[in-house]
Amino acid sequence: MEVERVQATVKGPADWFTGDVWIDGLARGAEPSRVRVSAVHFTPSARTAWHSHSVGQTLYVTEGRGLVQSRGGEIIEIRPGDLVRAAGGEWHWHGAAPDHFMTHLSVTEALAPGDPRPETDWGEHVTDAEYNRG
Ligand code: MN
Repeated sequence: MEVERVQATVKGPADWFTGDVWIDGLARGAEPSRVRVSAVHFTPSARTAWHSHSVGQTLYVTEGRGLVQSRGGEIIEIRPGDLVRAAGGEWHWHGAAPDHFMTHLSVTEALAPGDPRPETDWGEHVTDAEYNRG
């Protein structure tokens, strides 16, 4: 058995998030594994910018209430125990509900060495108008 202290929590960069978001990196697979697991903590109304993941992403909601939207789709409420799967290249955002914190685990894969694609392609911030449309 091995107990390991989690590394310092890092603030989600303002280029990629609206509002206060804090990220704990939990697992980084050693080659040939490329898995990446993090816990992402959103304060009320905080959310990601629009983005897509080249190899897709699975989210597992552990706390609070959140919102998720795929480009062109409706805003969907997410709660603890919900799984959200974003396909590779699917544009979307995720975040907390206006009046609740939300934490989800994020499972992604790093790209293979030499793969020229961006691991995550970041776009525009989610405006208040978009966020409040739910
Ligand atoms: Mn995502």
